[in-house]
Amino acid sequence: MTRRPIPILTYHQIDAPPPRGAPYRGLVVSPAAFARQMGMLRTLGYQGLSMSALEPYLRGDKSGKVVGITLDDGFVNNLDQALPVLQRCGFSATCYVVSGQMGGLNIWDRAKGVPPQSLMDAGQLKAWLAGGQEVGAHTRSHADLLRADDASAGEEIAGCKRDLEQSLDTEVRHFCYPYGFHRPDHARMVREAGYVTATTTQRGRVRNTDDLFELPRVPVLRTTSLPLLWLKLATGYEDRRRA
Ligand SMILES: [Zn+2]
Repeated sequence: MTRRPIPILTYHQIDAPPPRGAPYRGLVVSPAAFARQMGMLRTLGYQGLSMSALEPYLRGDKSGKVVGITLDDGFVNNLDQALPVLQRCGFSATCYVVSGQMGGLNIWDRAKGVPPQSLMDAGQLKAWLAGGQEVGAHTRSHADLLRADDASAGEEIAGCKRDLEQSLDTEVRHFCYPYGFHRPDHARMVREAGYVTATTTQRGRVRNTDDLFELPRVPVLRTTSLPLLWLKLATGYEDRRRA
């Protein structure tokens, strides 16, 4: 049986846009746009789900009109701006956290001139969890795994899970490759560390033949209009880049 392709949306920051010309400005979606996007999902009959809630659909054990919602890096503005909207819509989402920067900043972006932004500390991440949301892992330092040797890649992957589980007293089952960069070896390390899914920045909706440790996603940017979001969800718009 061919299953309906499942979109997993990728967000980063939900906040007022940084100054014109700031690098990666496009990754900041305004709170009003985020609210309109979640509202449109609801109107269209989609259920917005965290990776754990989405897992039975990805495995083919459940079927339905579902969309994964993921937010990368763990910004405080996810708690302040995205959480109330998600709750209002009855949706859940997974926020992928850099365990070595809890309460810190997105320092990995500094050299590119990206304005510094606060990342959730343990207390804020607990509030995110208490709000019905999920925490996933995004390595200890937002490491570029392609530049790491095997030992440090293993520590970044497995250590992040341990750190987060210890700090937050919750199981962390989902992983996201920083920058989307990984080799097949890293997918094996992620599985061996005890995670059950991993997401990439490969664009596309998930097909039932996809590897759960190399899941494609659908980016949502500052400039993504509602009609474009609909194209990304309901048509092959994102899938055309796939082999
Ligand atoms: Zn990231």
